[in-house]
Amino acid sequence: MTERSQDALRDILQRIDGRGYKAYKELKGSWQLPLVALHIDHVQGDPFAAPSRLRVHLPGSVTRLPPEVLTTNARRWGTSCLLARAFQEETHTLGSGKGSGRSGEIRMEAPGQQVIPNTAVQLAPDGSVEARFRVGLPARGRRVLGQEALRLLLEVVPDLVERTLLASAHSPEEVLRHAEMNEDADVLRDGLARAGLVAFVANGARLPRRSGVDDRPLEGSGVVPFQSPPELEVTLETPNAGPVTGMGIPQGVTLIVGGGYHGKSTLLRALERGVYNHRPGDGRERVVSDPDAVKIRAEDGRPVTSVNISPFIGRLPGGVDTRDFSTSNASGSTSQAAAIVEALESGATTLLMDEDTSATNFMIRDRRMQILVPGDREPITPFVDRVRELHRDLGISSILVLGGSGDYLDVADTVVAMNEYQAEWATDRGKEVARNHPTGRTAETPTPLTDGLSARPARRPLQTSVDPSRGKRPVRIRVRGEDQIQFGRHDIDLSAVEQIVSWAQARALSEGLLLARDRFMSPNPQATPTLSQILDGVMEALAEEGLDVLGHGHDGDLALFRRHELAAALNRLRPLTVAPPGEGLLQEPR
Ligand code: ADP
Ligand code: MG
Repeated sequence: MTERSQDALRDILQRIDGRGYKAYKELKGSWQLPLVALHIDHVQGDPFAAPSRLRVHLPGSVTRLPPEVLTTNARRWGTSCLLARAFQEETHTLGSGKGSGRSGEIRMEAPGQQVIPNTAVQLAPDGSVEARFRVGLPARGRRVLGQEALRLLLEVVPDLVERTLLASAHSPEEVLRHAEMNEDADVLRDGLARAGLVAFVANGARLPRRSGVDDRPLEGSGVVPFQSPPELEVTLETPNAGPVTGMGIPQGVTLIVGGGYHGKSTLLRALERGVYNHRPGDGRERVVSDPDAVKIRAEDGRPVTSVNISPFIGRLPGGVDTRDFSTSNASGSTSQAAAIVEALESGATTLLMDEDTSATNFMIRDRRMQILVPGDREPITPFVDRVRELHRDLGISSILVLGGSGDYLDVADTVVAMNEYQAEWATDRGKEVARNHPTGRTAETPTPLTDGLSARPARRPLQTSVDPSRGKRPVRIRVRGEDQIQFGRHDIDLSAVEQIVSWAQARALSEGLLLARDRFMSPNPQATPTLSQILDGVMEALAEEGLDVLGHGHDGDLALFRRHELAAALNRLRPLTVAPPGEGLLQEPR
């Protein structure tokens, strides 16, 4: 694309002043301004539509970011998230410009507390920066407001860029801190498996959030900083901060117990989010967990497509075969069972569960219930009878928040008790209690877990069932909040997929589904790959080609997701169907 000059832009805006709004379409293309290259990728159709999509590109000679923040991916992402947040915050100071509709609006989809690769601001190894944002081109009524557009594009935007995206806009220490902390977090997470851990919470971490809808750290003297119990204390090395000491949660089965309101769920939520890095000052910068840790919860009402939940749920009333379980309206227990089997399918290695969001009858069946309702009348094998097998036979760890059931003490490797927001070592005491107070219950494992899981071959989703069309439009995808994707004619409800942390991630997921369908699924049911192979395909494409394989190619509102969340979105697409397992492949359980 050839770049036109700033004067040419000025000429056009003067010429189209007062004309119909569509005249703005002439601005599409690339412009060389004094400091930056400006790309106008999409011009909105009218002043009330979603604002126009713009990009600015700044060479390294302009940004002058120091070489030490450019050396690794992690350092660059830490830095670019700082720049993006600064840009977005600065837009609030601009005041509203003149004009109708969304005139003068400037908006960047900046990352929140997490540091996740995204398309808002991208920093290249040569120090050049590309920033993407939306601008509402100014109008009076539905007419071009040329003078105002001139001011916006040639003064406001360059000024905003100068005040936020250049090294000179930040203190050198601040920039370096963002780069280094992000690198340290990656190194901490990468070191977990080697240290036999599934999670790490540094001493001094601040876990509670301001509210259920505000992810910023809770502040004030009431906040109790995290301190590891001595028995679980480990020290991990980081390249920048040196040795960091905190609580290491070992592989295996871990319980977080304690009284109500003593901080159990807050700890678990920090571990859920520990699959992502956090900005300096978040309080969770050094809280990291297994990158394949997946939150599992009950989600009644969700759809389930051909999932083999037989390891957890045997024959249902009416002779429903749970090796191939589908429903448009799952119950608490069946949804939780399906979530586990789906997580195993997408490659989870740690499961996180909170009693607050679990189905009680899925978690536990106590002695009295075993007597009252005999096993042959209860289809559920409770999780307490599978959690050890999951680790022993499949190497999958679990971290469970439980305040209400002591039956899990028999199966736990590690017990952490939360007491007044302080973590305490309770493993020995837990074992003692388990010895002295037998539950009297009998384990219910009709067949081994691995047999149950292999009773059905891997699912192969059918391309035809992933249909993005709506009416005359072949592709119609929209995202409402971070909780809902409208994919073609169907809504995908993501409100229970708790490890999706931003609208930009939901946006990327919606495009990820489309990529999965177009590139990695086959119209031929015999040739269609397994769900796990489809996830591999999408994640490889993202790793090799970058986030711009999604969407229009220049979108500024995409953030990277994990394979588990892509699977979660696909699994919640109501019309999803999978290829029949084939003759004789559905084996009778032994
Ligand atoms: P539980 O799951 O044990 O019932 P929660 O984790 O929901 O408890 O925490 C209860 C309340 O305490 C929440 O409002 C939470 O923000 C607050 N809280 C949790 N941890 C801390 C802490 N370390 N310091 C101060 N307040 C905390
Ligand atoms: Mg709780």
